[in-house]
Amino acid sequence: MSKVTIEGVVKRFEGHAAVAGVSLTVESGELFTLLGPSGCGKTTLLRVLAGFYQQDEGNVRFGDRLVNDVPAHKRNTGMVFQNYAVFPHMTVFENVAYGLKARKVGGQELQRRVTEALEMVKLADLKDRMPSQLSGGQQQRVALARALVIQPQLLLMDEPLSNLDAKLRIEMRTEIRRLQRQYGITTIYVTHDQEEALAISDRIAVMNQGRVEQVGSPRDIYFNPQTLFVAGFIGTTNLLPARVQGGEVRVLDQALREVKAADGDCTVTIRPEKIALGQGEISFTGHVEEALFVGSGTTVFVRTPSGQRIEVRLPNEVEPPRVGEQATFGFRRAAAAVYGAQGEV
Ligand code: ATP
Repeated sequence: MSKVTIEGVVKRFEGHAAVAGVSLTVESGELFTLLGPSGCGKTTLLRVLAGFYQQDEGNVRFGDRLVNDVPAHKRNTGMVFQNYAVFPHMTVFENVAYGLKARKVGGQELQRRVTEALEMVKLADLKDRMPSQLSGGQQQRVALARALVIQPQLLLMDEPLSNLDAKLRIEMRTEIRRLQRQYGITTIYVTHDQEEALAISDRIAVMNQGRVEQVGSPRDIYFNPQTLFVAGFIGTTNLLPARVQGGEVRVLDQALREVKAADGDCTVTIRPEKIALGQGEISFTGHVEEALFVGSGTTVFVRTPSGQRIEVRLPNEVEPPRVGEQATFGFRRAAAAVYGAQGEV
């Protein structure tokens, strides 16, 4: 399995850079996710890696080999797409055998490898079915077996679970992770679903407008977002307008902490689960607009006198305030982060 090196890759469409200078290294055996909102360039970057698009600038290497000019069918990558792309007129077995036949593999080796790939995705019993006789999840397994059977040096997955219902999505992502780990397959995975990315990845690159904002482990990205974009995109967080004044950050009319930054506007982020009922180091009182029981706790929306809406997540042990009441909430200074125009302050 290859390490993948991406150096300064730019891909333009009609003058607009869909990928605007991306450099990344994906380690051998790693499950690496490109995460970002619709239109941020993740599919375009994946297609450059597959060889479907030629980049306008930059290099792509698989291991030590420069693949810029290697056509897609010679890159030995396996692809799995959102819409499965299984052939409707072929049985499960024939679908999986297709890529091997194209590579002139036949006879017993073909039988053995297709059977192995079908066993990997637990579909051996359904090998004679037509795709129309399969569920969505089973069709996606066929697509996965078809990508794996050619023993790709790199597996590329583009939103592979978005056509499945919520329960199956979670089952399949666990399965993909199990297979990927067991066989040490270097995998680049595209999704816009942050929960999926956090659950499945060794590392994540968060993309925004054709660029990488941050690369890190799921915990890193969640607990130490380096830019306001990442903080707002991952998990749920409150973005509170704040100011730096004389070296001090002020939020909700209180001093949060001293910083070495020039006077001006900034944003303070605080996650809903870090806010508790009652006074804290930083406190605010507001009108409870909504209180939604969500099973693992209650999500409360509070409107402050200055018009800000703040989300609070209370655990089940705490009796939530009623809608329409005034209530006081607080959080620890250390739980808040401060972002200026240049990133975290
Ligand atoms: P999504 O999750 O919606 O697929 P994405 O992050 O994968 O989004 P891309 O599909 O890579 O985003 O698109 C990035 C930008 O490039 C978008 O502005 C898109 O409109 C543009 N783009 C993508 N493909 C083409 C194309 N073939 N021709 C022209 N513009 C394109």
